Amino acid sequence: MYDYPIAIRKLIRELSKLPSLGERSATRLAYHLVYRDKGLGLSLADHLTEAMAKTRLCKSCNALTESELCSICQDSSRNRKLLCIVEKPIDIFSIERLGIFKGLYHVLHGLWSPMKGVDPSDLKFTELNKRILELQPEEIIIATGSTLEGDATALFIASEIGHLSTKITRLAQGMPKGGELEYADEITLQRALEGRSVL
Ligand SMILES: [Zn+2]
Repeated sequence: MYDYPIAIRKLIRELSKLPSLGERSATRLAYHLVYRDKGLGLSLADHLTEAMAKTRLCKSCNALTESELCSICQDSSRNRKLLCIVEKPIDIFSIERLGIFKGLYHVLHGLWSPMKGVDPSDLKFTELNKRILELQPEEIIIATGSTLEGDATALFIASEIGHLSTKITRLAQGMPKGGELEYADEITLQRALEGRSVL
């Protein structure tokens, strides 16, 4: 019985691990890259290697960057008294796209989830506390999604830093329930940000 050569089988196996890509789509993709468009396959391999090698986390906010500090942390025109806490690096892009937030960010790289075995110690909380001490922000916006974990994390942060005189706000309801930031449309996200309420 004919099967794909070993190298292609390995490629299909790895591609099918990507989110929302089943084995059929992975096979089609591998076939396209290795046979139909070898130039694209080679360039993709190069870009992937380059992106993996160059991308790291910003020393200050944990966003993705190629230098020690990301461009937002380096930008002196940003309001350093306004700190927005998000779950993952991609959430920064969702908020930046709106063009209305001019403060700084802090990426947690996850959410508190006892069900999934994620403790606050697995997230960037130590770094967050350090950052808050350093910046002494006037407002901390907790911009985690309206999921069970997003809400739990927001409450946890609020209880941890509640003793500070900093104003702590949370995105307004109206975000689709069970919705993560990256799936919210721009108008919904803008309304949630502008209508944020004190926790
Ligand atoms: Zn940064």
